[in-house]
Amino acid sequence: METCILAGGIIDGDEPSDLTAVYPVVEIFNSVQGEGARAGESSIFIRFGHCNLRCEWCDTEFDEWTDMTVIDILAKISHWPCKNVIFTGGEPALQNLWPLSRCLRKRGFHLAIESNGTIEIPEGLVNWICISPKDQLYPDVSIKQQSGDELKVIYCGQNLEMYSELEDGFDNLFLQPCYMESESVEWNGRNFALTEEVVKQNPRWRLSLQVHKWMGVD
Ligand code: SF4
Repeated sequence: METCILAGGIIDGDEPSDLTAVYPVVEIFNSVQGEGARAGESSIFIRFGHCNLRCEWCDTEFDEWTDMTVIDILAKISHWPCKNVIFTGGEPALQNLWPLSRCLRKRGFHLAIESNGTIEIPEGLVNWICISPKDQLYPDVSIKQQSGDELKVIYCGQNLEMYSELEDGFDNLFLQPCYMESESVEWNGRNFALTEEVVKQNPRWRLSLQVHKWMGVD
């Protein structure tokens, strides 16, 4: 049995190749999930570098990262009492997440992924799948992951019919107003009001607001 010391504790029973797998990590932080079905839960966010899309509203610096092994990541997250981990990005599904997933699930972590859906998520990799498709910007990019726990659409006036083939594959459907820092308060306010109206007209969908932004936290 492989045994090694980590941050004052013992790790055992892990595959050495899992523990030494390397990931491009932009940041790791503990915050409260601000969006969607699990809003309000303390969560550890692991933000990976790289994305296969370039959305105009993206506020994530995914082109700069630090290479971290699974051991490095475990050492970092062991400081928090939280057992919810969210893989996000960038696009986390670009990574081979199996080594990290195996090591975290063995330690009792609940794993979620937030993905743009253009890459299929392997069965059993995580406990919770949240897909946020970007069809309104990339109509020619197909959504490969067509089922999961949560479909979260950034809403900026597009026709909801473009999601009709996805709706039945997800347990929770959310519309989240597109918020662009570069736009005026009035522009963003109109988008919030429009999203509320569309939710009222389409009651299968629920409104998701980015509560963490009101709180001024990541
Ligand atoms: S898919 Fe997500 S991470 Fe990638 S560019 Fe779009 S908003 Fe940013």
